[in-house]
Amino acid sequence: MTQHRRITGKLVIATHNPGKLAEMRELLAPHGVEAVSAGELGLRGPEETGDSFRANARIKAVAAARAAELPAFADDSGLVVDALDGAPGIYSARWAGESKDFTAAMTRIERLLQERGATTPPQRRAHFISALCVAWPDDHLEEVEGRVDGALVWPPRGGAGFGYDPAFLPDGHSRTFGEMTSTEKHGLPPIGLGLSHRARAFVKLAEICLAG
Ligand code: IMP
Repeated sequence: MTQHRRITGKLVIATHNPGKLAEMRELLAPHGVEAVSAGELGLRGPEETGDSFRANARIKAVAAARAAELPAFADDSGLVVDALDGAPGIYSARWAGESKDFTAAMTRIERLLQERGATTPPQRRAHFISALCVAWPDDHLEEVEGRVDGALVWPPRGGAGFGYDPAFLPDGHSRTFGEMTSTEKHGLPPIGLGLSHRARAFVKLAEICLAG
């Protein structure tokens, strides 16, 4: 097995999403890692042609690492609904369309669940996945995945969070992600529970690439 590699110095964050960049800066700052965004370096995002979250995260991280000649981080995430054979999956963002209308995307999922007679919580199982990849210019890779399981509720509840949060009830909780504060949903231990898929993936990445 190849050795894990630590992230030191500068790390390119291969995202054009300011929220993700801010989240990564916060996570990395205590470890002395300086996050530079792909946007700041004028890098363009590659086409996400992978057939899995992991593949898409890798495509983005490898392209940025090669272009910037620095280690680069990328993520890919989405909602997987069991009764819909895994949809929307890697197309989670696309289901909301150009206008990023997640009410429409949640309504589409609900219509499909109703068509399949999925009315009880066990028939409405879903999970979020977050795949993270750090690629180095010499093609070394570190890859982790985080997952949070739950069930879809209807109607959606709560105005917090983003995307499919109001429809997702994580296992062991009585409030949807849309009804939780960001610390409850994403907060990393010791402040939060590390509940979300992204928090769980970050914890794994920190263990192998930032510890010490
Ligand atoms: P991407 O990872 O930027 O490609 O976007 C993935 C899409 O998955 C987002 O646009 C959301 O629709 C959905 N998604 C990913 N993580 C979450 C989450 O924590 N809450 C709600 N929706 C999410």
